[in-house]
Amino acid sequence: MSDRFYTPDPLPPGEFILVGPEAHHLAVVRRFSPGDRVTLFNGDGHEYPAEIVSADRKHAVLTVLPGVLADRELPFRVEVATAMPKGDRGDFLVEKLTELGVGRFTPLQTARTVVQPKESRLDKLQHAVVEASKQCGRNVLMRIGPLTPWAAFAPAVDLPGVRAILHPGDTKTTLLVADLPVARIRSGGVVFAVGPEGGFNDEEAAAAEAAGWVRVSLGPRVLRVETAAVAVAAWAANQ
Ligand code: SAH
Repeated sequence: MSDRFYTPDPLPPGEFILVGPEAHHLAVVRRFSPGDRVTLFNGDGHEYPAEIVSADRKHAVLTVLPGVLADRELPFRVEVATAMPKGDRGDFLVEKLTELGVGRFTPLQTARTVVQPKESRLDKLQHAVVEASKQCGRNVLMRIGPLTPWAAFAPAVDLPGVRAILHPGDTKTTLLVADLPVARIRSGGVVFAVGPEGGFNDEEAAAAEAAGWVRVSLGPRVLRVETAAVAVAAWAANQ
């Protein structure tokens, strides 16, 4: 189990007081005590070794040592935008995309979207990013964009690499994800868009193609939103 704890605050060398759920996690759940070493991170790309001075369920006082750059990011941009799946499947999605190194996740509003995340829901997703980053060793947090209508997102994405919409249609003629141009992805990044359970409608797909997106397929089976998103992120992360 990881000995990493997150704070959004700067971590200069010296005394630092960790508060809130992270202090509780450190002292009560993980039962660390004075003299123990842990690692702090704040999303700036570094890890900060720290020694515990005192810890109770509300505050942990630590001595922070100089930060060490620990880069576990992908060497090119990988971004994913999806209509939100229902309930816990959204948290699963965000957790897995974080583990896989995705830089940015954008929840989409589409014609057939049923679930539109509220602010509180987006906060919960942010919490899932932090928990996954503690576990997987990432020192830069995956960013979560605001809920964005597909009609605004598709023409606005600005990236020199590949923009791919998962909309298989006739899977025999649609380009497979595995056949996307890898050299271009490595040099310019990739953005994938995944539709809702009802799929993108044909107008949405046509508008994307008109804006320069390429239509791609993951094969003849109909995958759930989160399966499709994790599959493309895993593919891209390993190119
Ligand atoms: N009911 C829809 C399926 C939606 S699945 C239909 O029959 O078309 C939810 C989303 O996951 C889709 O919009 C698409 O973006 C993605 N997806 C699911 N299976 C896929 C596959 N085999 N290839 C590409 N994208 C897929």
